[in-house]
Amino acid sequence: MLPVVALVGRPNVGKSTLFNVLTRSRDALVADMPGVTRDRHYGVCRSGERPFVVVDTGGLSGVDDAMDVLTAKQVRLAIDEANVLVFVVDAREGLLPQDYVILNELRRSGKTIIAAVNKTDGLEEDAVLAEFSAFGVGKILPLSAAHNRGTADLIEMVLPLL
Ligand code: GDP
Ligand code: MG
Repeated sequence: MLPVVALVGRPNVGKSTLFNVLTRSRDALVADMPGVTRDRHYGVCRSGERPFVVVDTGGLSGVDDAMDVLTAKQVRLAIDEANVLVFVVDAREGLLPQDYVILNELRRSGKTIIAAVNKTDGLEEDAVLAEFSAFGVGKILPLSAAHNRGTADLIEMVLPLL
Protein backbone atom coordinates (compact mmCIF):
# COMPACT_ATOMS: atom_id res chain seq x y z
CA MET A 1 0.00 0.00 0.00
CA LEU A 2 1.19 3.53 -0.79
CA PRO A 3 2.17 5.90 2.03
CA VAL A 4 -0.43 8.51 2.96
CA VAL A 5 -0.15 12.30 3.33
CA ALA A 6 -3.09 14.17 4.89
CA LEU A 7 -3.89 17.83 4.22
CA VAL A 8 -5.32 19.41 7.36
CA GLY A 9 -6.15 22.99 8.27
CA ARG A 10 -8.97 25.50 8.72
CA PRO A 11 -11.61 25.80 6.00
CA ASN A 12 -10.67 28.05 3.07
CA VAL A 13 -6.88 27.94 3.47
CA GLY A 14 -6.52 26.15 0.12
CA LYS A 15 -6.40 22.44 0.99
CA SER A 16 -8.56 21.37 -1.96
CA THR A 17 -6.65 23.60 -4.35
CA LEU A 18 -3.42 21.99 -3.17
CA PHE A 19 -5.00 18.53 -3.41
CA ASN A 20 -5.96 19.18 -7.03
CA VAL A 21 -2.46 20.36 -7.93
CA LEU A 22 -0.78 17.41 -6.21
CA THR A 23 -3.09 14.80 -7.71
CA ARG A 24 -3.90 16.59 -10.97
CA SER A 25 -7.45 15.42 -10.34
CA ARG A 26 -7.38 12.70 -12.99
CA ASP A 27 -6.27 10.26 -10.28
CA ALA A 28 -8.72 11.76 -7.85
CA LEU A 29 -10.37 8.57 -6.66
CA VAL A 30 -8.58 5.59 -5.23
CA ALA A 31 -11.16 2.87 -5.14
CA ASP A 32 -9.07 0.31 -3.27
CA MET A 33 -8.21 2.52 -0.30
CA PRO A 34 -9.77 0.89 2.76
CA GLY A 35 -12.27 3.01 4.64
CA VAL A 36 -12.91 5.47 1.85
CA THR A 37 -15.75 7.79 2.69
CA ARG A 38 -17.23 10.72 0.82
CA ASP A 39 -15.99 13.05 3.53
CA ARG A 40 -12.35 12.36 2.85
CA HIS A 41 -11.06 12.68 -0.67
CA TYR A 42 -8.26 10.46 -1.83
CA GLY A 43 -5.92 10.94 -4.73
CA VAL A 44 -2.47 9.82 -5.80
CA CYS A 45 0.41 12.23 -6.29
CA ARG A 46 2.67 10.93 -9.06
CA SER A 47 4.71 14.08 -9.65
CA GLY A 48 7.64 13.02 -7.48
CA GLU A 49 10.06 10.10 -7.57
CA ARG A 50 7.63 7.84 -5.75
CA PRO A 51 3.84 7.97 -5.67
CA PHE A 52 1.93 8.60 -2.46
CA VAL A 53 -1.70 8.94 -1.49
CA VAL A 54 -3.02 12.42 -0.66
CA VAL A 55 -6.06 12.86 1.58
CA ASP A 56 -8.02 16.09 1.36
CA THR A 57 -10.05 16.81 4.48
CA GLY A 58 -13.04 19.02 5.11
CA GLY A 59 -10.99 21.04 7.54
CA LEU A 60 -10.96 21.58 11.28
CA SER A 61 -12.47 24.86 12.46
CA GLY A 62 -10.48 24.83 15.68
CA VAL A 63 -13.75 25.72 17.42
CA ASP A 64 -15.71 23.18 19.43
CA ASP A 65 -18.89 23.60 17.46
CA ALA A 66 -21.44 20.76 17.38
CA MET A 67 -21.92 21.36 13.65
CA ASP A 68 -18.27 20.50 13.08
CA VAL A 69 -18.17 17.30 15.10
CA LEU A 70 -18.81 14.98 12.17
CA THR A 71 -16.26 16.72 9.96
CA ALA A 72 -13.78 16.74 12.82
CA LYS A 73 -14.24 13.00 13.21
CA GLN A 74 -13.37 12.52 9.54
CA VAL A 75 -10.29 14.68 9.92
CA ARG A 76 -9.17 12.61 12.91
CA LEU A 77 -9.56 9.45 10.88
CA ALA A 78 -7.43 11.03 8.14
CA ILE A 79 -4.78 11.94 10.71
CA ASP A 80 -4.81 8.37 12.02
CA GLU A 81 -4.17 6.83 8.62
CA ALA A 82 -1.54 9.39 7.52
CA ASN A 83 2.22 8.91 7.60
CA VAL A 84 2.88 12.65 7.28
CA LEU A 85 0.60 15.61 8.09
CA VAL A 86 0.61 18.73 5.93
CA PHE A 87 -0.76 21.53 8.09
CA VAL A 88 -2.09 24.11 5.63
CA VAL A 89 -2.34 27.73 6.80
CA ASP A 90 -3.23 30.99 5.07
CA ALA A 91 -0.44 33.54 4.68
CA ARG A 92 -2.96 36.31 4.07
CA GLU A 93 -4.92 35.76 7.26
CA GLY A 94 -1.84 35.10 9.36
CA LEU A 95 -1.65 33.02 12.49
CA LEU A 96 -5.08 32.61 14.05
CA PRO A 97 -5.92 31.09 17.44
CA GLN A 98 -7.77 28.28 15.65
CA ASP A 99 -4.55 27.37 13.87
CA TYR A 100 -2.95 26.68 17.24
CA VAL A 101 -5.90 24.51 18.31
CA ILE A 102 -5.52 22.46 15.14
CA LEU A 103 -1.76 22.29 15.48
CA ASN A 104 -2.10 20.95 19.03
CA GLU A 105 -4.42 18.27 17.74
CA LEU A 106 -1.91 17.33 15.04
CA ARG A 107 0.92 17.24 17.59
CA ARG A 108 -1.00 14.81 19.76
CA SER A 109 -0.73 12.30 16.90
CA GLY A 110 3.04 12.31 17.24
CA LYS A 111 3.36 12.31 13.45
CA THR A 112 5.66 14.43 11.34
CA ILE A 113 4.13 17.81 10.54
CA ILE A 114 4.96 20.10 7.63
CA ALA A 115 3.52 23.60 7.84
CA ALA A 116 2.51 24.63 4.31
CA VAL A 117 1.99 28.40 4.30
CA ASN A 118 -0.33 28.89 1.34
CA LYS A 119 -1.42 31.99 -0.61
CA THR A 120 2.03 33.58 -0.50
CA ASP A 121 1.54 34.91 -4.04
CA GLY A 122 2.20 38.65 -4.01
CA LEU A 123 3.54 38.55 -0.45
CA GLU A 124 7.07 38.97 0.89
CA GLU A 125 8.08 35.35 1.49
CA ASP A 126 10.69 36.03 4.20
CA ALA A 127 8.25 38.07 6.27
CA VAL A 128 5.63 35.36 5.95
CA LEU A 129 8.06 32.66 7.04
CA ALA A 130 9.22 34.79 9.97
CA GLU A 131 5.64 35.18 11.17
CA PHE A 132 4.76 31.51 10.84
CA SER A 133 7.96 30.32 12.47
CA ALA A 134 6.12 31.15 15.72
CA PHE A 135 4.38 27.80 15.29
CA GLY A 136 7.61 26.09 16.20
CA VAL A 137 7.06 23.53 13.44
CA GLY A 138 10.49 22.53 12.18
CA LYS A 139 9.43 22.00 8.60
CA ILE A 140 7.81 25.03 7.03
CA LEU A 141 7.28 25.83 3.38
CA PRO A 142 5.83 28.84 1.55
CA LEU A 143 3.37 27.89 -1.13
CA SER A 144 0.94 29.20 -3.69
CA ALA A 145 -1.26 26.27 -4.59
CA ALA A 146 -3.39 28.39 -6.92
CA HIS A 147 -0.29 29.35 -8.92
CA ASN A 148 1.37 25.94 -8.55
CA ARG A 149 4.35 27.53 -6.81
CA GLY A 150 6.26 25.64 -4.14
CA THR A 151 4.32 22.44 -4.72
CA ALA A 152 7.34 20.62 -6.17
CA ASP A 153 9.31 21.67 -3.06
CA LEU A 154 6.53 20.27 -0.89
CA ILE A 155 6.74 16.93 -2.69
CA GLU A 156 10.54 16.93 -2.24
CA MET A 157 10.09 17.61 1.47
CA VAL A 158 7.43 14.92 1.91
CA LEU A 159 9.08 12.03 0.06
CA PRO A 160 12.04 11.38 2.42
CA LEU A 161 9.61 11.33 5.34
CA LEU A 162 7.50 8.53 3.91
P1 GDP B 1 -10.10 24.61 1.48
O1 GDP B 1 -11.40 24.99 2.13
O2 GDP B 1 -8.99 24.63 2.49
O3 GDP B 1 -10.18 23.33 0.73
O4 GDP B 1 -9.74 25.79 0.45
P2 GDP B 1 -9.96 25.85 -1.14
O5 GDP B 1 -8.94 25.05 -1.84
O6 GDP B 1 -11.38 25.56 -1.43
O7 GDP B 1 -9.62 27.37 -1.43
C1 GDP B 1 -10.29 28.43 -0.75
C2 GDP B 1 -10.11 29.72 -1.53
O8 GDP B 1 -8.73 30.12 -1.53
C3 GDP B 1 -10.49 29.59 -3.01
O9 GDP B 1 -11.14 30.76 -3.40
C4 GDP B 1 -9.15 29.43 -3.71
O10 GDP B 1 -9.17 29.89 -5.03
C5 GDP B 1 -8.26 30.30 -2.85
N1 GDP B 1 -6.84 29.89 -2.93
C6 GDP B 1 -6.35 28.63 -2.81
N2 GDP B 1 -5.02 28.62 -2.96
C7 GDP B 1 -4.63 29.91 -3.16
C8 GDP B 1 -3.36 30.54 -3.39
O11 GDP B 1 -2.31 29.91 -3.44
N3 GDP B 1 -3.38 31.89 -3.53
C9 GDP B 1 -4.53 32.62 -3.49
N4 GDP B 1 -4.43 33.94 -3.65
N5 GDP B 1 -5.75 32.06 -3.30
C10 GDP B 1 -5.80 30.72 -3.13
MG1 MG C 1 -11.75 21.93 0.63
